Amino acid sequence: MSDAKNAARLSRWTERGTSIEANVTVKKREETGTATVYVAELDGGARFKRAAKIGLICWGLAVLSIPIVVFHFVLVPMFLLAGPVLFFMRYGQEQVILGSLVDCPVCSHTNRVKEQAEAWPITHHCDNNKCRETMFLARPGDEPA
Ligand SMILES: [Zn+2]
Repeated sequence: MSDAKNAARLSRWTERGTSIEANVTVKKREETGTATVYVAELDGGARFKRAAKIGLICWGLAVLSIPIVVFHFVLVPMFLLAGPVLFFMRYGQEQVILGSLVDCPVCSHTNRVKEQAEAWPITHHCDNNKCRETMFLARPGDEPA
């Protein structure tokens, strides 16, 4: 992961959202840290755009599944149903976590927390394959998991 990419991400996140200083803890370990998590409140238009994207991806996968012999009996209806289900799930998300760059308290590797529905604490597995520790990012005042 390059520093230039991370710098671009950080500027995008600061532009779109507000920052929260989160406490980072690691399962069954003493090491702790802090991380800045970017959160955004979405208006109707932004929610619709995010939701439409996932809905259209599902329907696109349904179309692509048509030529897959035998499996198309399962895949096509599954993706057709998943489209509206995921659309409404995403449309209901008024607050999202845009992302965060977290230094693993155990191995110091810089991890990128991806965009997701806002739910605290955020659970993230260290991207460093030699580490794979489970980190919890909690808002100050929240009980660690
Ligand atoms: Zn790690």
